[in-house]
Amino acid sequence: MNQVSITIVGLGPMGRAMAAAYLDAGHPVTVWNRSAGKDTDLVARGAHRAASIAEAVAASDLTVLSLIDVDAMYTALGDTALDGRVLVNLSSDVPDKARGAARWAGSRGAAYLTGGVNVPPTGIGQEGSSIFISGPQEVYEEYRPALDVLAATDYRGADPGHAQLYYQLNMIMFWTAYTGWYQALAVARANGLTAADFLPYAGYTADTMRGFYTHSAPAVDAGDHDGAAARLAMCAASVEHVLHTAADSGVDTGILAAHLDLYRRGVEAGYGADGTTRLIELLGGKAPVAG
Ligand code: NDP
Repeated sequence: MNQVSITIVGLGPMGRAMAAAYLDAGHPVTVWNRSAGKDTDLVARGAHRAASIAEAVAASDLTVLSLIDVDAMYTALGDTALDGRVLVNLSSDVPDKARGAARWAGSRGAAYLTGGVNVPPTGIGQEGSSIFISGPQEVYEEYRPALDVLAATDYRGADPGHAQLYYQLNMIMFWTAYTGWYQALAVARANGLTAADFLPYAGYTADTMRGFYTHSAPAVDAGDHDGAAARLAMCAASVEHVLHTAADSGVDTGILAAHLDLYRRGVEAGYGADGTTRLIELLGGKAPVAG
C-alpha cells in the first residue's frame, strides 16, 4: 500500500521528532524550516529538503505544521497556494487563534485540522502518547492512520478550537503542578534536602491527585459543595501553613500568596464550612448551560 506522503513545516525538537517518526514508519517525508541547518540528520535518513515553502506544501498529501504558534503559520506560509491542500497544524495556541487559522485556511481552499500534542518530543511515536485533534471529521477519518503514527489521536469534534481547548486545560494542570514541584524543591533545598530525597513523596502526592479529581468531578457538575470531609476554612489554614513554611525557609512566596488569597476570599465570602468545589465559583467558572 502507498504510504501517505508527509511534509513537516517547522523543525524544532517537536517537528524533528515527528519527521523522524514518519521516516521510521516508511512515509515519504519532505521537510522545511525557516532557518537552515536543522534538517541535516533527517535528510541523511532520506527526507527531502524543500527549497521553498511552496515546494514543501505542494510535495505531499499532508502538511503537518509544528511551529511556535499560529501566527508563525501565517508568516511561514505567506501567499503559498493552498487550494486543495490538507494542513494539520500541531502548533500550540489559544482556541480562538486555532479557529481563526481554520477560517483563513478554508478561505484559501485548504482542508484544515488543529491538534494539541500531549507529549514531549521523546513521546512521539511511542505507546501511550496522545494528540487531541479537531476539525472536519471526514478529513480526520481520511488521515487518521497517518496521524496515529505520531501518537494516538483523540478526536474532539468539528470545532477547530476544541483540540486547543482540551490541550490548554491539560496545560493548566501541567504548568501549575510543575511549578508546584519546583516550589516544593525550593523549600526542600532551603532545608538541606535534595530533589532525590523528596522524589518518592512527590510521586505519592502526584498519584493521589487522580483520586481527588475523580471524587470532586461529580460534585462539581452537581453543584454539590458539601464540606463534611474537608472544610474550606481548614484548607485555607493549611495553605497558610504552606506559605509560612516557604517564608520561614527564605524562598519566594508569590505563587503561594496568590493561592492563599483565593482560599481566604472563599472563607470571607461565607463559604468556610463548604468544600473546595466552591473555589470554581471564586475563580469565575460558570456552570454549563443545559441543552
Ligand atoms: P521550538 O520553539 O523549538 O520550534 C519552533 C519552530 O517554529 C521552529 O522550527 C522555528 O523556526 C519555527 N518558527 C518560529 N517562529 C516562526 C516564524 N515566524 N516563521 C516561521 N517559522 C517560525 O518549538 P518545539 O519544536 O519545541 O514545539 C513546536 C510546537 O509543539 C509548539 O507549538 C509547542 O508548544 C508544541 N509542543 C511542544 C512540546 C515540547 O515539549 N517541545 C510538547 C507539546 C507541544 P526556526 O528554527 O527558524 O527558529
